[in-house]
Amino acid sequence: MFQEVWKTYEENELTHSAAHHLMAVHELRTRHGYARVSDIAQHLKITKGSVSSAMKHLKERGYVREDHNRFLELTEKGAKGVAEIESARVAFQRFLTHALGMDEDDAEIDACKVEHLVSAETRSRLTHFLSFLYSDEPAAHAFLEALRTHTLEHGVTLDGEVVFAGAPPAGVRDRA
Ligand SMILES: [Zn+2]
Repeated sequence: MFQEVWKTYEENELTHSAAHHLMAVHELRTRHGYARVSDIAQHLKITKGSVSSAMKHLKERGYVREDHNRFLELTEKGAKGVAEIESARVAFQRFLTHALGMDEDDAEIDACKVEHLVSAETRSRLTHFLSFLYSDEPAAHAFLEALRTHTLEHGVTLDGEVVFAGAPPAGVRDRA
């Protein structure tokens, strides 16, 4: 079952590299109003050749097209993809920093690795989980308090070493 899932998945979904190409088009168009192959290459710090071949593939799959100036732009499918990837990254980053107490930089790296892989359901459930965790529900407060105490007493084990990962930063409730 799992074997079949990952096989079809590889064929249909975006690779991590493709996801970052799409995000680059989005970011450059938002910032400058246009995105050329050379701009994307500079933005991603890769060669124009590899951007061209990635864009060819994304065009064939309906994520990207050329505008009237022959510059690159996202199709509706591409824009939807970018929105999904970005919201997954935000949700994971919050989960890792706020709920698990991870360092912001480490959390950003790990969130980047999984951003393009999670389903819409995981994304929305995670967002819902976080909004509950940082709501005014007394049970949520009690849970965070207990977790904080437990972490302070026992720390977090990393490679056999005990790391005292802290509680969520102050003001987290407003951001979650
Ligand atoms: Zn990434």
